[in-house]
Amino acid sequence: MKNPRKFIIQKFTEYYRDNANKIPLPTSYKKREFGFILSDKGIMLRHKAFSEPRFFRDFIKLITPSDVYHSAAYYKHPSREMGKKEWIGADLIFDIDFDHISTPCTEEHEYWTCELCDQAGVGKQPSVCSQCGGSKFKMVAWLCETCLETAKSEALKLIEFLVNDFGFPPQDVEVCFSGHRGYHIHVERDEIKQLDQDARKEIVDYVQGTGLKVSLHGLMPVSRKTGQKIIGPDLNDPGWSGKIARGVYDIIVTYNLQQLKEINGINKNIASLIFLQREKILKTWNTGNPWGSIKGIGIKTWEKLVEISVVNQAVSIDTVVTIDIHRLIRMPLTLHGKTGLKVVSIPSKSLERFDPLRDAVAFNEGTLKVYILAAHRFRIGKEIYGPYERETVKLPMAAAIYLLCKRAALLTD
Ligand SMILES: [Zn+2]
Ligand SMILES: [Zn+2]
Repeated sequence: MKNPRKFIIQKFTEYYRDNANKIPLPTSYKKREFGFILSDKGIMLRHKAFSEPRFFRDFIKLITPSDVYHSAAYYKHPSREMGKKEWIGADLIFDIDFDHISTPCTEEHEYWTCELCDQAGVGKQPSVCSQCGGSKFKMVAWLCETCLETAKSEALKLIEFLVNDFGFPPQDVEVCFSGHRGYHIHVERDEIKQLDQDARKEIVDYVQGTGLKVSLHGLMPVSRKTGQKIIGPDLNDPGWSGKIARGVYDIIVTYNLQQLKEINGINKNIASLIFLQREKILKTWNTGNPWGSIKGIGIKTWEKLVEISVVNQAVSIDTVVTIDIHRLIRMPLTLHGKTGLKVVSIPSKSLERFDPLRDAVAFNEGTLKVYILAAHRFRIGKEIYGPYERETVKLPMAAAIYLLCKRAALLTD
């Protein structure tokens, strides 16, 4: 068996030879820092700057990096060391990665590789490697359709926040599939370039619903002569008020009796009452005031439902990425070293139809015979492959390269 690293570099070289000229450079690229992970050593080369697109393209063809990044920030001197760059401003960026999102399938696609030899396997890592006796392992993120779908729906939620709540024009909100586990969202507007870390943290808190006080969004008891009544936000309200209302509406529409009973802090009898009266509650949402419509459902119950609705409506993002004003982000049409898929820029309107396992495939030609150590089931394009264990299989190039990049397969002699 041959180590596949040289082969992967050769395929990446071919890709950049054919595609480097199509890679779009970001706006104001002369003011940005570029970074590359070197394929052979796995180390990061930073503080590069380019005065013309062709210099960038020639460079990428020359070094064949495994991953390519540019700064979200603009600098007076992008090629100087960090403290001497003179920061001018930065785009607003978000990272949605299924590493940060809890999905029920995470345990189903655990995968490990040995750090000392080429052993790999599905499931929990062993205590000792059966091949080399080593005890250091790396957990590998397997590309899972459910996880990717979850990441996409988080991205769609975030776009709604950015367009409807913050008022950014959709054409200024760029969405990129990262080539691996999720999406990056990137806003380029003069208004946000100067925002410091604290201001960016405020934006993070807003989209995550951190510190949200429901009474400030209109849910409260009101004294009437006829007794206590409750009022609350409307489905069409702007911002979080409307999200809260729509979130509670969704819970009432979609939760079954068991799910309602499992809500912490809601009495089982009240859960049954909500379930039995759901039609009536939903009807009043269009005609009047649902929050005060059912006797026996009090403010504490609504507050519990709102709590869950906030969690469902908030977006799971990697906080650190948005707050870091020197962050590097991946460039569209460059490859991801852990999958061999490419980073793809997607107009926000087309995100719903985007299929990462079809639309981000970079190696469309040829087949390759590989020895697969172990693999969970996976899809590339229309085909589903695996699961495999210790077998030699001839695969289309993209599927083979995916396994080689994951260190799940070796080249046959
Ligand atoms: Zn080993
Ligand atoms: Zn999954």
